[in-house]
Amino acid sequence: MKLIFISGGVISGIGKGITAASLGLLLEKQGYKVSFLKCDPYINIDAGTMNPIEHGEVFVTDDGYEMDMDGGHYERFMGINVSRTNAITTGQIYSRVIQNERNLKYDGACVEVIPHIRDEIVSRIEEAYNHDEILIIEIGGTIGEYQNDIYYEAERYLKRKLKEDLLHIHISYLPVPKSIGEMKTKPTQQSVMHLNQRGIFPDIIVGRSDSPIDKLRRKKIAIATNVEEDCVFSNTDVSSIYKVPYNFYLQKLDIKVLDFLNLESKNIDMEDWKALISSIDTNYKKTITIGMVGKYHTSGSFSLEDAYVSVVESIKIACWSEKINFKIKWLDSENINMNVLKTCNGIIVPGGFGERGIEGKIKAIKYARENNIPYFGLCYGMQLAAVEFARNVIGLKKANSEEVNPKVPDLIIHIMPDQEKKLLAKDYGGSMRLGAWECVLLKDSIAYEAYRKDKISERHRHRYEFNNRYRKVFENKGMIFSGLSPDSKLVEIMELKNHPFFVGVQFHPEFKSKPLSPHPLFVKFISSCIKNKGGQV
Ligand code: GLN
Repeated sequence: MKLIFISGGVISGIGKGITAASLGLLLEKQGYKVSFLKCDPYINIDAGTMNPIEHGEVFVTDDGYEMDMDGGHYERFMGINVSRTNAITTGQIYSRVIQNERNLKYDGACVEVIPHIRDEIVSRIEEAYNHDEILIIEIGGTIGEYQNDIYYEAERYLKRKLKEDLLHIHISYLPVPKSIGEMKTKPTQQSVMHLNQRGIFPDIIVGRSDSPIDKLRRKKIAIATNVEEDCVFSNTDVSSIYKVPYNFYLQKLDIKVLDFLNLESKNIDMEDWKALISSIDTNYKKTITIGMVGKYHTSGSFSLEDAYVSVVESIKIACWSEKINFKIKWLDSENINMNVLKTCNGIIVPGGFGERGIEGKIKAIKYARENNIPYFGLCYGMQLAAVEFARNVIGLKKANSEEVNPKVPDLIIHIMPDQEKKLLAKDYGGSMRLGAWECVLLKDSIAYEAYRKDKISERHRHRYEFNNRYRKVFENKGMIFSGLSPDSKLVEIMELKNHPFFVGVQFHPEFKSKPLSPHPLFVKFISSCIKNKGGQV
């Protein structure tokens, strides 16, 4: 078993996930089968019940696990599909141990944090390792926090057995205080001391800073933290996260890591990433503006990007592949600014829940439909497009989704029968229609033109669906149901006939975009935004 533990020090948000995913990519290119385990110290069983403003997007895996947004980073950087074995939370660990205790699995022992909780973490690590060659384990949070201590204890315990087969990379922050004007290493020294107190002695230090680490500072860190000077790596701020793996490649981080683990290394080919980076940096003649209509606006632009990170990445990736500059404008669905909306070459309504902000979303959708502006509705964005069409084209003025108002006569979007039972039982966690489901495409459609396949598989996360009673009236007025579940019972894609691009999907295509393989529907949407005369191309 070869394990790489990744920890963070000094501050949160220094890019442990991006570092882990970047290293994973380099090790994959070295020819190894790499897997991940994200250890989240919260009590929630998964990220599905968390507020996206505070915790960022919920990333859905093929097997229907609701992971936090790091799952998306791993998948976008690497060739892997993450699954529920690739993530653990403290809640899962405790709930398993308590269940075992109830089933008398501990033979009458007094069940305690050590050894039982620690051993359960170790067994989940072994499960995640499976038959891969290298497992990268990211410990969530920052060293020194009470709540992640038990994960370090599990690492310490494993190190006794694994010795050189276990490597620890510590990512720390190197501030340059304005008033001092010099890079300071003391916070890093202190965070490594926290690790040492827990019996962890890092092998590699990655310093996150706005400028590269100089020789003097490198030496200081090395001496104070007991690592070799050439084991101090620099992760400087870059304009795009996709540059991080290339920077680590230039510093030969992969070779150092493999050296530690006594595994062979070679010079790898990074031409594909080099090409990606150069497409990111190219300044094209034209720029398009994409309007994102969402309600997770309240805590500033930082949380916005995080709440919809996979959608934003999908837009970027498609624009790079279509060779066009882009701007993303955020429109608050509770207060749609029509002047801003009118500058957009294309409009997206991403996934969402509940009543707040839906009338604004419907207003934006109406504008896109009536003015031939490309519109892409993702999940709730498809459902609300159906409501808008019912109200304004078919004339069912009170049409709505059951989620918003169950009392109206025309429930265009209604609850799926099995979901109704779950809601009544207050069974909310991990109980939506989740994960990958197949969808059959209609030949003569925008969807088919994009995918060029009869059958696709996409990831879902919803409780409500299109009400089939309305299929006929919709079709009579020019809506096409271009993607259906294999038994034809569920509408998965709908699109308008006489419109350049008015497509709503019940699934979340954004979870499957990768920088080296853009998602076909996003590419089709962006190419239609480029052609759109309504905006400012
Ligand atoms: N709220 C809708 C549903 O549950 C859409 C969910 C979503 O956009 N992910 O069906």
